[in-house]
Amino acid sequence: MEITSAQFVQGIVGPSDILHNDTPQIAFVGRSNAGKSSLLNSLTGKNKLAITSKTPGRTKEINLFNINNTHYFLDLPGYGYARASGETKQKLGELIAWYLFESNTDPTVVLLVDAVVRPTKDDLNMLQDLMDDKKRIVVVANKIDKIKPSKLHKRLKELTQEFNGFRLIPYSSLTGVGKDELLVELLQ
Ligand code: GDP
Repeated sequence: MEITSAQFVQGIVGPSDILHNDTPQIAFVGRSNAGKSSLLNSLTGKNKLAITSKTPGRTKEINLFNINNTHYFLDLPGYGYARASGETKQKLGELIAWYLFESNTDPTVVLLVDAVVRPTKDDLNMLQDLMDDKKRIVVVANKIDKIKPSKLHKRLKELTQEFNGFRLIPYSSLTGVGKDELLVELLQ
């Protein structure tokens, strides 16, 4: 399984026809700094793909990418962004919640967590909301290259328990570990 083409299509800020064709949607959610941009870049093999989502103006949108002309990847704003003002945070939260729970779409959701950091309250709240809504969820534990090999097994066991037995894919955007497994899971 490989990504042969990946193109930015548009920023989503509300209802849009593009969300209602037959193309399967895969939504990437996670705390800011968990490594969402790095994950998207490593999955697509494009170093600058997700740079779009970091440019001012675009951070407040859901960036939609066409993948292989068969799937859409949706890069949702990071939640829990400490430096955002209260109002901005609320707006981002509203956009995330609208897309995930009210837009009448049925995305597979990739919940990206930082394997070095324990899941935050925001991560667990997000997981609960996704579970309540019966979403198909894939948890990606990023940055595993930062964990000592002797501690990795224990940490992955802890994370698997914390994420309630969901499919958890250990990942490193830096080394590419987990990439094949995740692509098969998402694009098969
Ligand atoms: P985002 O805010 O979720 O889009 O996070 P970024 O992709 O910008 O990554 C946040 C920081 O974590 C950056 O300094 C990245 O270089 C770093 N990072 C992301 N993924 C990895 C990884 O797999 N391994 C390591 N060691 N660092 C990573």
